[in-house]
Amino acid sequence: MSIDLNWRPTSYSDFNRLPASVYLPDYLPGEVEIARIMIESILEDIISIRARWRSGRYRYRVVDEHGVWVELCRKSSMKPLTLGQLIDLIQGSNQVGDPYAGNGLLEGLWNCSWSEGGSSELEDAVNFAHVKSDYYSELSAWYQERGRQWRIERVQALQRERMEECSYCEKEYDPESQDTYMHDCEEERAYNREMQVQRKQRKEAWHAYPLTSEIQEVFDDWWTAHGSERMSETGERGDFAFPGNHAFRPVAQHIIDTIRSTGSMPSGFFTAEFLFRHSYLRARRYTTQVDFATLADKANVIRKQYPDAEWWMMDVASYFEDDDPPALPESGKGDNSD
Ligand SMILES: [Zn+2]
Repeated sequence: MSIDLNWRPTSYSDFNRLPASVYLPDYLPGEVEIARIMIESILEDIISIRARWRSGRYRYRVVDEHGVWVELCRKSSMKPLTLGQLIDLIQGSNQVGDPYAGNGLLEGLWNCSWSEGGSSELEDAVNFAHVKSDYYSELSAWYQERGRQWRIERVQALQRERMEECSYCEKEYDPESQDTYMHDCEEERAYNREMQVQRKQRKEAWHAYPLTSEIQEVFDDWWTAHGSERMSETGERGDFAFPGNHAFRPVAQHIIDTIRSTGSMPSGFFTAEFLFRHSYLRARRYTTQVDFATLADKANVIRKQYPDAEWWMMDVASYFEDDDPPALPESGKGDNSD
């Protein structure tokens, strides 16, 4: 951009092309408006930057229609301001008591307009307030470019706030720049490859187990009947929780243990007890009763009543793929892990 910041008018001659709005304070004798900030508010507010020759110097003041008090970073000069000095005046002066003070007269308004907005509102914010001048023909062009930069800075600031540390490579990354919100890095891909290998191994281990398809069938049926059931809290009925998938493990373990000890699938009633963690502070003990004799019939009824049951089936299938299958029996070792 070829804007000459050292250019200055030869004088602030006594003319005002822009009429003072009726709500602005009158011009003092010999005072001119060297720049005007216009705000796209409901009242179309105006902030007027003025110069007046007095006692051998140009004296500056900023007025608006509400009698706001502006702390000027420069109060006077011998010669008219260069364009750069005028920009410094606008950038460095602030409304007293403005919560967005510190960003200058115009950028303070952009910040105020943008406030809590997202990146989509940045253009509106810049358009909310703009500047023009009869003396400085390139002032508004400079601020148009400044507005462009300001928007880029805000986008970068938003991005910095979003940054997260990748748990695989520990580098900072922007989740919104990633398809999956996860950092796409070699460490993350290596971890996923390793997980896939482990899943495959678990699945193979599971299918090597005796009575696999029977167990799978019972698990599926059990899940359909109980997976989204409201479990009763021990000694207290009707809690709201849906801890069905937490009950899965003790039921699975019971089936495995039964097969290990009897060589066949369990029958009759089994009561599973398990902990369900509602939050980090609250874990409660639940029980669920499984009737192996009627499990399949019950599951079929529920399947008709709730078409969603198919989703639960898929959940249980993925449970096998994503998590450890029930521990394989080790010959000669009883259940003394407690
Ligand atoms: Zn990473």
